[in-house]
This record gives sequence, structure tokens and C-alpha cells, in this order.
Amino acid sequence: MTIFSKIIAGEIPSYKVAEDDEFFAFLDINPIVWGHTLVVPKQETDYIFDIDDARLGRMMAFAKKVAAAIKEAFPCRKVGMAVLGLEVPHAHIHLVPLKHEGDMDFAKKVSNPDPARMAETAAAIASHFKPNP
Ligand code: AMP
Repeated sequence: MTIFSKIIAGEIPSYKVAEDDEFFAFLDINPIVWGHTLVVPKQETDYIFDIDDARLGRMMAFAKKVAAAIKEAFPCRKVGMAVLGLEVPHAHIHLVPLKHEGDMDFAKKVSNPDPARMAETAAAIASHFKPNP
């Protein structure tokens, strides 16, 4: 079981943003900017491009709804998307509110983000999430 499956199962805590029957969104624990969110499939797959086409399409549609909520909660030019997957072997999309190109910089991780601010951030994004926009 991956660390993200344990998060989805509620066995370890996370700052949850949204979920549906197939996908789960929560804050990255080491955000590169405030609002940095991860979208993961509930079914474990390591490499995102091993996910079948239909599910991958639905994952993108779910990420799109989360991105809209991030943009409402954290005004930005665009919400950027990145897939690395070098650390955790459970496919995930990083969504990052961008004001400048340099905001998408994974060398700028905050290692001990303030828990209260993380909770506020997740709640703000969750409040704008529309399951069926
Ligand atoms: P990568 O697999 O290279 O995309 O990196 C994994 C990402 O997951 C990193 O940005 C980590 O900060 C993040 N991460 C790892 N463990 C957790 C966790 N328990 N909760 C939230 N984010 C996590």
C-alpha cells in the first residue's frame, strides 16, 4: 500500500481538498507555493501513463475541477500542472497556482508549512470545488 493509498484510506492524515469515487485531491505536504495540490487516482498505479485512457481522461477532468477551485481560492494567472512521480510510486498530478514562470520550481519546497495555514488553504480550495460544474 502506498503512502497515498494510506491517505485515501484515512490511515494517515492529509489536508483534503476534494474527492469523488475514483480520485482524491489533497495538499502537497511540502508546497512550492500556497495552494499546491496533488490529484491521485484511488486505484494504485505507479506510472501515470500506465493508467488506461478512459480513467486518465476522467483524472484530467477531475484535476480540471480542482484547478478551477484553486484559481478561485488563490487568484493567479493560470494553474500549472506537472507530473514527476520520482518520489512516490502512486501516480499524481501536481497543480500549482502560477503568477510567474518561476513559481513552478520544485526546488522551492516549504519543508515545515504552518499547519493552521495548510488547513485554511485546503478549506479555501474545498469551498470552491464544484463536483458538477
Ligand atoms: P514526486 O513523486 O516526485 O511527484 O513527489 C512526491 C510529492 O508528494 C512531493 O512533492 C511530496 O512533497 C509529496 N508528498 C509526499 N508525502 C506526502 C504526504 N504524506 N502528504 C502530502 N504530500 C506528500
